[in-house]
Amino acid sequence: MAVAHRLFRLFSPFTPAAKNNLSSFLIRSLSSSSSTHGPSLDPEIDLKEAAAELEKSSSPSSSLSRTKGRNFHWVFLGCPGVGKGTYASRLSTLLGVPHIATGDLVREELSSSGLLSSQLKELVNHGKLVPDEFIISLLSKRLEAGMEKGESGYILDGFPRTVTQAEILEGVINVDLVINLKLKEEALLAKCLGRRICSECGANYNVACIDIKGDDGDDGMYMPPLLPPPKCESKLITRADDTAEVVKERLRVYNKLTQPVEEFYRKRGKLLEFELPGGIPQSWPKLLRALHLEDDKQSAIA
Ligand code: ADP
Repeated sequence: MAVAHRLFRLFSPFTPAAKNNLSSFLIRSLSSSSSTHGPSLDPEIDLKEAAAELEKSSSPSSSLSRTKGRNFHWVFLGCPGVGKGTYASRLSTLLGVPHIATGDLVREELSSSGLLSSQLKELVNHGKLVPDEFIISLLSKRLEAGMEKGESGYILDGFPRTVTQAEILEGVINVDLVINLKLKEEALLAKCLGRRICSECGANYNVACIDIKGDDGDDGMYMPPLLPPPKCESKLITRADDTAEVVKERLRVYNKLTQPVEEFYRKRGKLLEFELPGGIPQSWPKLLRALHLEDDKQSAIA
C-alpha cells in the first residue's frame, strides 16, 4: 500500500475535540498530503496509537491563531556536523526564545523502552530519517507545551527536513527566517566524529582539531577543539549515529531529502545563506552581523 494512503488510514478521522489542536492540524495536513518522505516503520507498530499518546498531553484549547504572528519563528538548516545546535542555542539565549531541536526530541523518545522505540532506534542509528508523521507528532507536542507556558517564538533546529515537512509547517506558521549554515565538506565528517556530549549536563564538546590548508583562491580553515571542563571530562559520551559509516549516510540523506528544502525557502525569499568561516570566535560575530544583531546584543553573550 502506498505510504500516503497508509498514513491517511492511520490518522483519520480526527475527533471533533481535537480538531483545533495544532498537532491535529499538523497531522491532518500530513495525512492528506500527496507525498511523504522517509522510511516507514513496521506495520505492526501502531503509529496512530503512538501519535495519540503524544497528543494526549496536548491542550485542546491551543490553536493555530495563537502561534501565528508571534516573533522569531526561525529555522536552522544545514548538514550534519555543521553546528546548527551550537548557533541555534546561542541565538536562543540571545533572543530569549526556546531552541527546539527535533534530534533532541527524537533522542528523548528513544530513551524509552518498547517496540516503537527500538524500531526508531534502528532508523536513527543507521542515519535514516524517522517518518514525517512521527516527527510532526513529537514537534506538535513540544510546541503546544511551549504555548501553554507562554512561549512567544522559537528557533527550530533539524525541522523541516523534507519538503513535505516544510509545506506543512508553512501552512501553519509564518517562518520569518531560515538560516542555512554551510561549512567546508572536509570539516563535516571530522566534526561529527569529534563530537562528545556530557552525559550529566548535556553540554556539547568537540575533540577534533580541524586544520584545512587553503589553496589558490580558497581560504583555509582552522577550528580548534572545544574541550570539556574537568567536571565533564569523565562523563563524555558519543552519539550512536556519529560513526563514519552512519555520518556518511546522514550526509547522503541530507543531500537527497533536505537540500530541496533549501530551495523551497529560497524561492520564498526566506533563506539566509551563511558560510561559517571557522570556529565560534570567528563565526559568531559574523553571524550576528549577518542577522543585524551585533550592536545591542553581542555583549550579552560573548
Ligand atoms: P544531525 O546532526 O544529523 O543534524 P539531529 O540531531 O538533528 O542530527 O537528528 C538526529 C536524527 O533524528 C536524524 O538523523 C533523524 O533520524 C532524526 N530526525 C531529527 N529531526 C528529524 C526530522 N525533522 N525528520 C525526520 N527525522 C528527524
